[in-house]
Amino acid sequence: MNLTGRVALVTGGSRGIGRAIVARLAGAGAKVAFVYQSNQEAAEALAAELKAQGSEVLAIKADVSSKEEADQAVEQVTTAFGRLDILVNNAGITRDGLLATMTSDQWRQVIDTNLTGVFNFCQAATRTMMSQRYGRVINMSSVAADFSNPGQVNYAASKAGIEGFSRCMATELAKRGVTVNCVAPGFIETDMTVAVVNSFGDKIKQSIPVRRLGKPEDIANAVHFLASEESSYITGQTLKVDGGLTLGGMG
Ligand code: NAP
Repeated sequence: MNLTGRVALVTGGSRGIGRAIVARLAGAGAKVAFVYQSNQEAAEALAAELKAQGSEVLAIKADVSSKEEADQAVEQVTTAFGRLDILVNNAGITRDGLLATMTSDQWRQVIDTNLTGVFNFCQAATRTMMSQRYGRVINMSSVAADFSNPGQVNYAASKAGIEGFSRCMATELAKRGVTVNCVAPGFIETDMTVAVVNSFGDKIKQSIPVRRLGKPEDIANAVHFLASEESSYITGQTLKVDGGLTLGGMG
């Protein structure tokens, strides 16, 4: 799945799952821009590492929840690299709390980043992809979209929203050569899950049929396929990458 000549933009690309996606797409030959919010050190380290390997990489500081910053980020990519073929909306946060005590800020921060961020970047990228008559959009959902965790009404709503959004967008853009799909990870070892893994790691492993937590590279594998030309007949779908966590079997 060679991506030479393709240009990709990955939000939340400085750490965790996004970092693995950036490295994978660059390794497959794409020119890759990635957006981070505040951790400049992590962003610079990734950009330097990939440039040393001969990849063309652009790190962009932007808040995905800002429409203006999303428009500017996409503009920066098309100016630097001339086109935009692959958009991976990966940036996401959790602000967990039970509904009874969840603050409006906790609700808003998660919806603004996880869901409005997807709207902002999809809208900013759509015109370019439509005029190219080619695009691959991959939106990062979660098994939380249809698997209930207490304390995550905000996060589950944002991820279920992303899946509905992606299905509608897929139908709007299919005839223009643009596919839109979601990847829904299970438990992946990143900064986001470090606290829960430290407390319940062994218990979590026992609940996963393949008996291991996921690695960011497991998600990058799925994204790489959906970002390739080989996935052209797949659109509007959600691919769960969860080691069988949500199968509901007795294993
Ligand atoms: P992570 O390690 O916490 O990394 C989050 C990334 O998003 C960082 O690059 C961060 O930038 C960026 N980010 C956060 N808010 C942003 C904003 N407002 N604007 C721009 N960038 C922002 O997270 P992760 O575990 O890799 O998760 C990545 C995605 O996978 C998320 O959408 C998450 O919901 C989803 N997911 C994760 C898991 C899991 O088990 N880890 C499971 C299911 C779904 P900075 O470095 O600048 O902070």
